[in-house]
Amino acid sequence: MLTTGPRGTKDILPDISYSWRYIENIIHELCQQAAYQEIRTPIFEHTELFLRGIGETTDIVEKEMYTFTDLGQRSLTLRPENTAAVVRSYLENKLYATLNPAKLYYIGPMFRYDRPQAGRYRQFHQFGVEAIGAKDPSIDAEIISLAIQFFQRLGLNDLTLQINSVGCPVCRPIYREKLQAFFKDKLPSLCKDCQSRYERNPMRLLDCKNEKCQELSQGAPHIIDCLCEECNDHFEKLQGFFKAANIDFIINKRLVRGLDYYTKTAFEIEYKPLGAQSAVCGGGRYDGLIEQCGGQATPAIGFAIGLERTFLALEKQNLLPPKDDSIKIFIAPIGEKAKEVAFRLVYELRSAHISAETDYLDRSIKAQMKSANRYQAEYVAIIGEDELLNNQVMLKNMKTSEQELVSIDDLKNKLVDKAGEKKND
Ligand code: ATP
Ligand code: MG
Repeated sequence: MLTTGPRGTKDILPDISYSWRYIENIIHELCQQAAYQEIRTPIFEHTELFLRGIGETTDIVEKEMYTFTDLGQRSLTLRPENTAAVVRSYLENKLYATLNPAKLYYIGPMFRYDRPQAGRYRQFHQFGVEAIGAKDPSIDAEIISLAIQFFQRLGLNDLTLQINSVGCPVCRPIYREKLQAFFKDKLPSLCKDCQSRYERNPMRLLDCKNEKCQELSQGAPHIIDCLCEECNDHFEKLQGFFKAANIDFIINKRLVRGLDYYTKTAFEIEYKPLGAQSAVCGGGRYDGLIEQCGGQATPAIGFAIGLERTFLALEKQNLLPPKDDSIKIFIAPIGEKAKEVAFRLVYELRSAHISAETDYLDRSIKAQMKSANRYQAEYVAIIGEDELLNNQVMLKNMKTSEQELVSIDDLKNKLVDKAGEKKND
């Protein structure tokens, strides 16, 4: 117990945390270039927010939430996703007064009581984007293109973008009736979940993962064939933007989001080589959500990308970046007096923004050279007795094995120069 983390959680260990920062840096850079601003909301919220903001008939709310009562008897929930919280913050902080549309993004952990397997965890991370306040399909196109550009920057190919429209409160009720009529005599053969979905949330009959249900849903009517004029026009225009920018997409008529506040555009990005857990991004328009959360009716659209699955895809394509490649120096003192000099050097080098490390275990010089290699030092500065007497270090280039005596007072400038050269390479 004490030496194992909770099921479905994962430590991000030192050998991989560098890659996480690499991905996060790409996110920050991309969002900055596209004029999206970062928002950081709390890890937990009132349970009520998710009941309203995700929907009581969704898998997340029905089976996946980490809900607890705090010592003040409040019901709180670890966020299973972040759109509802961003909307809550948008309303609470009146972001609409200054940002229109509000173009926001977040990166952070989410919590769901999912069945752990490859690409599915109980604590996982999402990069998400929300644009609140615009109804034009141009913002749908921008949001989706941002997800595409994120994967492009990472070098990931072989992704498929699937889009659909789920209509609006004008056209959906008509579709809903058609769908129920289609499933009516199949009802007894559907799984238990689907039987309860039939009344409460029939569109979700289309995305049940049960094989039998999938079979029975063949030939079901598609919402896209029932769209009202406005929704149809929106969907056509969205495709026009993609064509103008040469963004490939396929229309997946079965892609649904069952709740009333999801409207028009729905999309997913898939990386097929991941197998069962192949969805790396899901998103769509939610024109009804802000009102549902107590605000004025406000159109909005967003997506969430699963970072663990992105990571798995990067590993598969061998695209994780090399570890830190900044200039690094290892200071190897021999003897007590040399340790003081080593300490001073490390201190001064770090003050000059040079990465420096030393020995803390009174290791032999041979063992220190091994530590230097493990640290991937480009240089080692050895401070032996002779060097100490002459106020020098023996500077060894670990790649070429060249050695030279360098005065302690010059060492810092020399390395600063080398770091500068490396940067301009
Ligand atoms: P799935 O059908 O795979 O459960 P979902 O519809 O629940 O996905 P969304 O709520 O749309 O997923 O979340 C957006 C993205 O977050 C997903 O495409 C996926 O990449 C990631 N994601 C969702 N749940 C998990 C999880 N338990 N572990 C890891 N990543 C996840
Ligand atoms: Mg899920």
